[in-house]
Amino acid sequence: MSTIPVHEWTLREAADRIRSGGVSSRELTEAILGRIAAINPKINAWVTVIPEKAMAQAAVFDEMQARGESAGPLHGVPVGLKDIFCTKGIKTTCGSRILHNFVPPYDAAVTERVLCAGAVLLGKQNMDEFAMGSSTETSFFGNTLNPWDPSRIPGGSSGGTAAAVASAMCFAAMGTDTGGSIRQPASLCGVVGLKPTYGRVSRYGMIAFASSLDQGGPVTRTVADAALMLGIVAGHDRRDSTSLDLPVPDYDAALGRDVKGLRVGLPKEYFEGEGLDPQVRAAVDRALAALVAAGAEAVEVSLPHTEYALSTYYLIAPAEASSNLARYDGVRYGHRAEGTSGLIEMMSKTRAEGFGPEVKRRIMIGTYALSAGYYEAFYGKAQKVRTLIRRDFDAAFQKADVLLTPTAPTPAFRIGEKTDDPLTMYLSDIYTIPCNLAGIPGISVPCGMSSEGLPIGAQLLANHFREETLLTAAGAIERAIPLPRVAPFKG
Ligand code: GLN
Repeated sequence: MSTIPVHEWTLREAADRIRSGGVSSRELTEAILGRIAAINPKINAWVTVIPEKAMAQAAVFDEMQARGESAGPLHGVPVGLKDIFCTKGIKTTCGSRILHNFVPPYDAAVTERVLCAGAVLLGKQNMDEFAMGSSTETSFFGNTLNPWDPSRIPGGSSGGTAAAVASAMCFAAMGTDTGGSIRQPASLCGVVGLKPTYGRVSRYGMIAFASSLDQGGPVTRTVADAALMLGIVAGHDRRDSTSLDLPVPDYDAALGRDVKGLRVGLPKEYFEGEGLDPQVRAAVDRALAALVAAGAEAVEVSLPHTEYALSTYYLIAPAEASSNLARYDGVRYGHRAEGTSGLIEMMSKTRAEGFGPEVKRRIMIGTYALSAGYYEAFYGKAQKVRTLIRRDFDAAFQKADVLLTPTAPTPAFRIGEKTDDPLTMYLSDIYTIPCNLAGIPGISVPCGMSSEGLPIGAQLLANHFREETLLTAAGAIERAIPLPRVAPFKG
């Protein structure tokens, strides 16, 4: 372990080294800030980096350590946050021009929990504007590049988060997932991404995209690190009315558990489409073989309404977004257009200037779907189909404990390849979206590399609040298929 460069340590190794006095928080933070300074100008994974604040915080943790005190399980370890989590006194843009100057007066629940656990915050990570996208190309702050191949996208919308973790510009980070935005970039960057059950992690202070689908979760380089982060951020919060008041299990206990007898369901609809790259298919087959070799049992399941998931999502998500984004009107905070006369002109010019094309497209689709006379035909119908999709999963989990699927149909695609065609971009999330519609948890774990040296991820899905099953199964895949943890990007 001692021969591994500092930045390649896992989150747990970093925390252990600080705890045992082998390294100080200042040394660790300085090393990672050095990496950010060297690599980030090329990868653009961060919108904001706060070196002075981070070093000052690290010094506080070192002083505590000298007094024999610990702030928590992440004591002194540098981490990042997607720029969608409000951070008190630190700019929070959500990848948008309309919030380019927004400095929140409070911390999100996730921010609070990560900081209370003792983490040193390095800054805020790049993302698709308002988390709408699958490639981080819709960010107002320029696109993030994939550290495995900088001619390619890192996935999205948590692309900055996945790229930063994969290139060791932090030990772990928090992203959000509305239709795949944690799992898909994790898959494309060769890291672990976990979307918890809807309601497991508080959405308080997490800028809303589609409130009935949004969920925060960790992006890490190992499954054990995902378990550590989940244990920190999960739990009830009265400030989020959809947060569930259930005890948080000991996720660490799930890590060593045996997969013997675990029923692994393969949803046949996920393997039938033409869009699935044969190399992705082969890698997922190897993940299955690894689980079976460890004693799991493969069963075929069916999720018959899968074909409607994308259309359902692209009614519900834009409808909720059009309502959530109505608050950005130039009155209270964020960008305000200049040289206008009157309120209506100020608001419409602010929104015309402040939002990018993808966000405008979603607002228009959503407003239309919610408009009088169309509401039942579109939004009402979509909600009914959503119920059918959830029931498909209920039935599948009668037969299986966990479902195994590809995370994304292809490895990372080239920058610009899908920007002119929203539909092919939307298809990147075909395997991840149904999980959000059903509210169940999902994880993406690296399971192979393409012939071009690009990471491939396998997705595991479990029933509500069965994150432990995901961690157990993902851990078994991780152990059976050793892969490089850090992208070889040199800058
Ligand atoms: N790519 C999907 C979308 O554009 C999902 C995004 C997300 O999960 N935030 O809506």
